[in-house]
Amino acid sequence: MPDASFVEIVVPLPLNDPLTYRWPFTDIRPVKGCRVLVPVGGRRVIGLLWGTVSRPGIEEDRLRSVISVLDPSAILPERLLDFYQWAASYYFYPLGLALSESLPPGFFSARKKTVEKIASRPVKEKGARLKLDAWDSGGGFPLTSEQRGCIEELCSLIEGHGFNPVLLHGVTGSGKTEVYLQATRHCIDCGRNVLVLVPEIAMTAQAVGIFNDRFGNQVAVLHSGLTDSQRRDEWWGIKRGKKRIVVGTRSAIFSPISNLGLIVVDEEHDPSYKQEEKFRYNARDLALVRGKMDEAVVVLGSATPSLTSFFNAMSGKYRLISMKGRVAESVLPSVTIIDRRKKDSVTKAKGGSNSPSRGDYWLSDRLKEAIGETLADGEQVLIFLNRRGFATYVFCPECGHVFRCPNCDVSLTWHRHIGLEGVGNGSNFDAGNGVLCCHYCASRYPALPVCPVCHGHAIRARGYGTEKVADELARMFPDARVARLDRDVSSSRRRVEKILKGFRSGSINMLVGTQMVTKGHDFPGLTLVGVLWADMSLNVPEFNAAERTFQLLTQVAGRAGRGKRPGRVLIQSFMPDHYAIALAKEQDFRRFFDKEVKARQELGYPPFGRMINLKLSGRKRAVVEKSAMRCGILSRRVIRQILARGEGVEVLGPAPSPRARIKGRYLYQVLLKSPRLGNLRLICQAVLRERAEFVLPGVRLEVDVDPQSLT
Ligand code: ADP
Ligand code: ZN
Repeated sequence: MPDASFVEIVVPLPLNDPLTYRWPFTDIRPVKGCRVLVPVGGRRVIGLLWGTVSRPGIEEDRLRSVISVLDPSAILPERLLDFYQWAASYYFYPLGLALSESLPPGFFSARKKTVEKIASRPVKEKGARLKLDAWDSGGGFPLTSEQRGCIEELCSLIEGHGFNPVLLHGVTGSGKTEVYLQATRHCIDCGRNVLVLVPEIAMTAQAVGIFNDRFGNQVAVLHSGLTDSQRRDEWWGIKRGKKRIVVGTRSAIFSPISNLGLIVVDEEHDPSYKQEEKFRYNARDLALVRGKMDEAVVVLGSATPSLTSFFNAMSGKYRLISMKGRVAESVLPSVTIIDRRKKDSVTKAKGGSNSPSRGDYWLSDRLKEAIGETLADGEQVLIFLNRRGFATYVFCPECGHVFRCPNCDVSLTWHRHIGLEGVGNGSNFDAGNGVLCCHYCASRYPALPVCPVCHGHAIRARGYGTEKVADELARMFPDARVARLDRDVSSSRRRVEKILKGFRSGSINMLVGTQMVTKGHDFPGLTLVGVLWADMSLNVPEFNAAERTFQLLTQVAGRAGRGKRPGRVLIQSFMPDHYAIALAKEQDFRRFFDKEVKARQELGYPPFGRMINLKLSGRKRAVVEKSAMRCGILSRRVIRQILARGEGVEVLGPAPSPRARIKGRYLYQVLLKSPRLGNLRLICQAVLRERAEFVLPGVRLEVDVDPQSLT
């Protein structure tokens, strides 16, 4: 960087541009990527030196001076700085916040002590595990020919030293992990480093364990469950080149690993790669950007690729590698759909008949029998439903009052065993037990036995969540060892690991869970998977509801029969003919893709149209609404002004979000949609430049680029 008397500093504040300062040091050259201490208002703030300017945009005598320089050299590699800049601009998010929210804690802390501490913190060597020469041991099994072909192809791409995006479409149980491991080894042997992204916390333990076993203390782990000091240690280990393999959840995409040769995104379709607050980036998409900057091979792996990724593979943007068979002797499970519309099961259940053929409302006889058989054979059962809690709503039968969240306008879910991993019995509303929870804002309220409206004492709870299903199954099958896995349990990492370990070892033989159980797990003794309500994820107002449903069903089905014994999957559904369900039964991704792509094309949804959602929220409905109206008008005006006819950017809304109110804030959105990304961004930029025109006092604007959810 040339000598200059003015510098641009990025500070961790919601600003769209860097701040300009005077550079008072004659003996120090300004280096991009160094931390500096600067005055902002009446405070001192740590910022990152981003560049120099020969002539500042404002009058020179109004400029303040940099106070001190904190690092002797750049603390972040230049390429990572470029990557951050790209990401912040793509997601219309302030660069300073993008940095401060993803760098290790204390990075921008203005306390001098912390600065010194992070800058000089030694890397603790964890007890050395396997040595490099032990890597060759592999998984202890011969690779399948598909695995070998895939590994060879990836290795030659890695040797080619260029940006190469690959979609690895391998059915569940095709042994993708072993492919990642072998490609990782090759990449390390070639002298380049590796980043592996995994979806979320329940998954990391398994992936980390496997990578640790193979590569020992070369592996750094990054996920949200780390303590501040662990995160700092890992970050510095990576930065100093002591850790050459990073395994982590989405924020690991920002890790300071240099010389990347391979980026793996495991289960690339997983929605948890998208951060749904503040800096709304998608780590899967950013992996491709980072891979391009680093000239790395980027492998997106999944049994159920996202529609967009597969579309890109079809159109030649990504190389497609397929693995169609499972490893060793295991075969794909047989899938049966149990049609719950059939009158005999529904009406009889409602009539409360005691005939032995009667199915419960939530559990068909067929699935119940299958569970009994499986347990009797000493095998394991997984039951999936996408709703946590005990009962999904609580009401007073005397006056009809339904308990609702005062902040969010949704009914409260009764959590009977909150904080307990246990499974109880009984299903009446034994008030005083557990709490009422809001699934939108996480508020909790006491489960009082009295109606606040009519003071009646007959409070009832209805609807099935994981807690109740686990309880009922434990009651029906008294010898079963039942456990539950959902977000309530996963707040404790240790508890999750205990449950997963128990299920893998067989000390638990029936697991009830939400989508957490569908993800990537490998349970060799699991032979029966039951899905209680396949339609639940279909009947939501989202453009990708069919895609999500197909993915969930295929993934959960894919947990069955991964060992030597064949698996079977029973799916209960009220919409058995819907293509997302029927084709999940066939496990036919290609046909699902062809069908869904047509539907998307007709409506201009991704991958045919790109979207940016402008989300406005605030505590006063009228103000938010007015703000949204103005935003809509402005957007339409900007489009008329900037774009010639026929270059269509569409404005949808303003509309109240289907989740009209969350945490006491009313929500409105204006959706911009266009087949052309360039035009869409142009319009969004122009709208944001005029944000003062529509972001009224008390209203917050959030920009969601490539939204995954419109609610
Ligand atoms: P997926 O493709 O669903 O991610 P995994 O990578 O989890 O599949 O592999 C499933 C199981 O098969 C794992 O326990 C793994 O160790 C094992 N495995 C992988 N490759 C082979 C092979 N060639 N022969 C036998 N077992 C294998
Ligand atoms: Zn709420």
